[in-house]
Amino acid sequence: MGKREMEPVIRWKRILEVTKKISGRDIAFYLTSKHTGYRGALIHDDEGKTIIYMDLLTNKSEEDVIETVSHEVAHLLVRTSDHSLEWSEKMKEVRKQFMEEMQQGQGRKNKEEEGLQ
Ligand SMILES: [Zn+2]
Repeated sequence: MGKREMEPVIRWKRILEVTKKISGRDIAFYLTSKHTGYRGALIHDDEGKTIIYMDLLTNKSEEDVIETVSHEVAHLLVRTSDHSLEWSEKMKEVRKQFMEEMQQGQGRKNKEEEGLQ
């Protein structure tokens, strides 16, 4: 595999779709290059919208982003900011579901590409 193919590609649109599906909420991603000291954070704004903040400097690959989003979505689903056993179990479940959904998205994309030939 050439060096170019090894460059990380982050499928932001797909990740956002999957995040909305798994959480059952209309979530927005805010990406920041400001040095925040955290990789991700969950914020509820004044209008009740759920926002996941992500630090561009520490979320370098798609794997990093999925890890961060799964972490925050697990907090949403168990309704706690603690890193409890319950949260930990939920995090694993969400991450697994995320990987499966991302794979399905990939399969659909491949089919679309085949259709163009
Ligand atoms: Zn946390």
